[in-house]
Amino acid sequence: MARARFAPSPTGPIHIGNIRTALFNYLFVKNDQDKNTMVLRIEDTDLQRSSSQYEKLIYEELHWLGIEWSEGPDKGGEYSPYRQSERLDIYNQYYEKLIREGKAYYCFCTPEELELDKKQTAGQSSSPRYSGRCRKLTSDEVEAYLKEGKPATIRFKIASDKPIIFEDMVKGRIEINSDTLGGDMVIRKSDGMPTYNFSAVIDDHLMDITHVIRGEDHLTNTPKQILVYDALGWDKPAFAHAPLILGPDRTKLSKRHGNTYIGQYREEGYLPEALFNYLALLSWSPEGDRELLSRDEIVEQFRLDKVTRANPVFDIDKLNWINAHYIKEADTARIAGLAEPYLIREGLLTQQQATEKAEWLELMIATVQDSLVKISDVTDRVRIFFDDGLTPENDQALEALRGEQVPGLLSLLKSTIEKAPSIDEEFCSGIFKVLQKETGIKGKQLFMPVRVAVTGQCHGPDLVKTFLLLGRDKLLARIDHILNNYV
Ligand code: GLU
Repeated sequence: MARARFAPSPTGPIHIGNIRTALFNYLFVKNDQDKNTMVLRIEDTDLQRSSSQYEKLIYEELHWLGIEWSEGPDKGGEYSPYRQSERLDIYNQYYEKLIREGKAYYCFCTPEELELDKKQTAGQSSSPRYSGRCRKLTSDEVEAYLKEGKPATIRFKIASDKPIIFEDMVKGRIEINSDTLGGDMVIRKSDGMPTYNFSAVIDDHLMDITHVIRGEDHLTNTPKQILVYDALGWDKPAFAHAPLILGPDRTKLSKRHGNTYIGQYREEGYLPEALFNYLALLSWSPEGDRELLSRDEIVEQFRLDKVTRANPVFDIDKLNWINAHYIKEADTARIAGLAEPYLIREGLLTQQQATEKAEWLELMIATVQDSLVKISDVTDRVRIFFDDGLTPENDQALEALRGEQVPGLLSLLKSTIEKAPSIDEEFCSGIFKVLQKETGIKGKQLFMPVRVAVTGQCHGPDLVKTFLLLGRDKLLARIDHILNNYV
């Protein structure tokens, strides 16, 4: 029975890398869902930067992507509380224990003293480190300083020149020397909050976490955490550090590369199933060469030990390709529902019109659905159904209106529309046959001028559907506009 956890800090919107960590935890757990448990732990010990809004956003983004957990601050569970700020009493017991056993001590060093230590040790064979000045304080001195109310941290003793070795499920064997860890580490800050490397260990142990799956950026923290496990005499969980996601220039994915937060992708109109599919492929490959996989297929095939060591490069073209695929596959009513806010925001529709013309809206979406890479593309694609007095988009479009057949063709189109009892499906599907029969014009000579006259463009959605969507008044107004100005 495995227990994994996702342990985000609610200090900002969720980064793509973090959501991939959540996904890998989820896939690992789901893979054997009868036995495994996913825990959500909120690491809100940075009082300045943590906020409940960001915590709420974490829940929303995870729900949106379809990542579920069975224990967490919102769900409760046997190992409550799941918010670190509510576990301070628990951490206190362990500082005390470590101090009692001589494995940790109070430190009263001032920022100036710490700075001096850093300067003095920089450039030596080991990396800059704390000198251990307060290790030597007597218990009377400590007592007196505490009574005085001198700002104090608690530090954990790190033995010097000690090899720390562990086997990472992704990275393999890792060996590091304790001298590279910066000296005795702070485990309780002067504001009374634990540091990450301490609280994570206490919680992972007390919450019976068996697998710690997180990003490679934490690989340097793991040796410090291992020392805390050892000092407390606890078994360690298995560790798996997923490789960092890079931008196309092979540096760590950041703002410079475009969107970095999952919410930005949601807002741009990426579908959750597309991101789920794409993110799963960052550092993991399914068997065979099929890359479009449903959630169930991914859950079924995912194996933690198949996560690759190489750093994946975030490839927006691939994500776009996957997203376009899922948009194409999706139910049109769903896409219409997702598109509606974009159309309203763009001023193409009001909320009331969207409700009143729901059927029309769905037909319009069906007409452009296959051409959408993301839902936000919809405004540009459907603009032709809204604007009046369209101008031909380019020289090619103007050229299409110059043929000698055009005036007669468009006049006939106009009168046929005027006479039609209704601009319905039957009329729209038959109109080109009628035009062809009466004028003898065929193919491109027929379709191109008509398309340009009613949409201003040489290429675009299906003309029959376009006629239906535009309706009599718009069609006539556009044909008139073209006849009066361009023909
Ligand atoms: N709060 C840490 C973070 O968001 C958790 C890291 C871990 O999974 O141990 O990066």
